[in-house]
Amino acid sequence: MFNQTADNPSLRRIAIVGSGMSGLTVGLQLKGLGHTVTVFEKSRGPGGRLAAKRVPSGSVDIGAQYFTARNPDFLPFLEKYAGKGTFTPWQGRLAYQAPSGEWEPFPEEARFVGTPRMTAITRALSANLNVVTETRVGRLARTDNAWRLYDTEGVSLGLFDQVIITAPPAQARDILASSGLPELASELDEPVGKVLPCWAVAAHFPTSPWPHHDGMRCQHPALYWVAHNSSKPGREDAGQWWVLHAGASWTQKHVDTAAPEVAELLVEAFREVTGFQTGPDDVVAHRWLYARSEGGEQPGHLWYPQHDIGLAGDWLSGGRVEGAFDSACGLVAEMHAASVTP
Ligand SMILES: Cc1cc2nc3c(=O)[nH]c(=O)nc-3n(C[C@H](O)[C@H](O)[C@H](O)COP(=O)(O)OP(=O)(O)OC[C@H]3O[C@@H](n4cnc5c(N)ncnc54)[C@H](O)[C@@H]3O)c2cc1C
Repeated sequence: MFNQTADNPSLRRIAIVGSGMSGLTVGLQLKGLGHTVTVFEKSRGPGGRLAAKRVPSGSVDIGAQYFTARNPDFLPFLEKYAGKGTFTPWQGRLAYQAPSGEWEPFPEEARFVGTPRMTAITRALSANLNVVTETRVGRLARTDNAWRLYDTEGVSLGLFDQVIITAPPAQARDILASSGLPELASELDEPVGKVLPCWAVAAHFPTSPWPHHDGMRCQHPALYWVAHNSSKPGREDAGQWWVLHAGASWTQKHVDTAAPEVAELLVEAFREVTGFQTGPDDVVAHRWLYARSEGGEQPGHLWYPQHDIGLAGDWLSGGRVEGAFDSACGLVAEMHAASVTP
């Protein structure tokens, strides 16, 4: 049923929507199996929520802060495709705040960061793939045995035998609903409601505002997470750039608040948590509409062989960087098993 190449009937043209950790992992693994892979990314560069903002003295990780590597295949994959120099362990002093206000250390676990910024990993991974940036996939149209992809302006992006969507569920649902696949789209109604927004602020302080920890999960109505970005290994800036992440329900309430006001409110919350009164001398804010998924059924990945469409992403497998990798691996394994089973 596939539009196969003449030489090898099992090799396919595969389109991947999204160039975050899940899209790049799917892409590299499918390419390694010999398929022809094209990745479409709506943003200017690859990486998705592995993101960094440029600041005068370097860059600040504005999305994912660190990642775990519990899956023994994850680090070897990164070493092979991104290179050893693109990530390193972060021995940050991490703590969470108990309801009493006391700081408790995070459980011992290896945690890693991209160097010199989180996007170093996804930049390097994408260098091994055909990634078409600034292209938002709008819909898919079935033509005989293939899918024709269109961008949101209606421009054709080519014909593909299979399509893998790795966008967050709200964006994946839009694509499916616009492609005459309402039953697939409606399966995402529940996951859409589980992906929560997050306001992120990067603030630079003239002196150290908090010498005790490098990353803290806070008990504060506005502030969920704080990290001393400059404490991460390999950063260009050795100073006092801090990242402040708002909690999901606070962000939901302030989702339309102007960025400068959000920055002010989160810096005020940071003052309340740390007691540090000096204001920052530089701030940048970023609103994530789809930041982290909470709970719900997470089957790992979704593969619809009757449609030649697959879905992967963190929201299907634990909601974190490593979950995105796991989801991608699970999907590729199922696709591959289906293609070699007579
Ligand atoms: C503020 C914040 C803090 C976080 N902290 C951590 C942390 O400390 N540790 C951790 O492990 N995880 C953390 N995460 C979660 C982690 O970033 C994600 O789990 C992971 O990066 C998701 O990867 P993904 O590939 O599944 O999705 P994404 O990275 O979201 O990739 C999806 C891609 O699809 C693209 N896209 C969407 N629609 C279209 C379209 N129509 N056409 C083309 N492209 C499209 C998007 O632009 C995006 O690049 C955090 C996330 C946020 C936002």
